[in-house]
Amino acid sequence: MKLARFMHNGAEQVGIVTDKGITSLALNRLEDCMGLTAAGVRSKSSKEIIPLKRVRLLAPVQPSKIICLGWNYLEHIEELKHNIPEQPMVFLKPPSGIIGPEDDVILPNPRISSQVNNEVELAVVVGKRSKNVRTEDAYSHVLGYTVAQDITARDIQWRLRQKNEQWDIAKAFDTFTPIGPYVVTPAGIKNPHNLAITLRVNGKIRQDSNTKYMIFKIPEVISYLSSVMTLLPGDVISTGTPKGVDLIKDGDVLEAEIEGVGVLRNRVSK
Ligand code: MG
Repeated sequence: MKLARFMHNGAEQVGIVTDKGITSLALNRLEDCMGLTAAGVRSKSSKEIIPLKRVRLLAPVQPSKIICLGWNYLEHIEELKHNIPEQPMVFLKPPSGIIGPEDDVILPNPRISSQVNNEVELAVVVGKRSKNVRTEDAYSHVLGYTVAQDITARDIQWRLRQKNEQWDIAKAFDTFTPIGPYVVTPAGIKNPHNLAITLRVNGKIRQDSNTKYMIFKIPEVISYLSSVMTLLPGDVISTGTPKGVDLIKDGDVLEAEIEGVGVLRNRVSK
């Protein structure tokens, strides 16, 4: 099942997306679908089907935190000449950086950063309050999956890394965290670790991999993170990017796609 948050007739709503369009749900947040069966979710939907072109899709969730993994694809580690981490390498992005489908990624002033990079990632959306989750129970804490981009000011990150300083700020700019367009529930994804993951820039493929190449898999990531911090409904875990990170520039159209999850389209502007 594909779930979305959207604006229609001036009101923010959540709904179910099908080939015919979108039906509104009598729920405040997508996270409220957690624990309901598919029939239970459908029982909350209106009869009216709104064509997708008549709504504006929003970032599907408004998380309390966005937790990102770095160095989680071997080929990306080789690309940037890093060591393989012994445990998940974690950093946080601020929720204020989130934008939705079709929103613009806005480049910082070039005096601040002139090397902004794409990073397509599979994002896991947490469905319930989670603390000390066992690996074998981890999937029962997942509301679904969406597409994320972990946009990065690479020159700032490099500069700080060379000085052995924290570099999270390089990822924290406004608009640097596009997510969406939908949350696809686990029933719609046979195996989240066998999905094609691609990024097209102006129609040309730049990143092209598969989620099976992740080093730390979703269950152990959820277990590890929840041993440190309580995960809340709607929280987003972005699972790292494969190789192919490179410059994005004003006017570029970015299409981040994960098989079965969707295409997240954003333009770059200054
Ligand atoms: Mg990343």
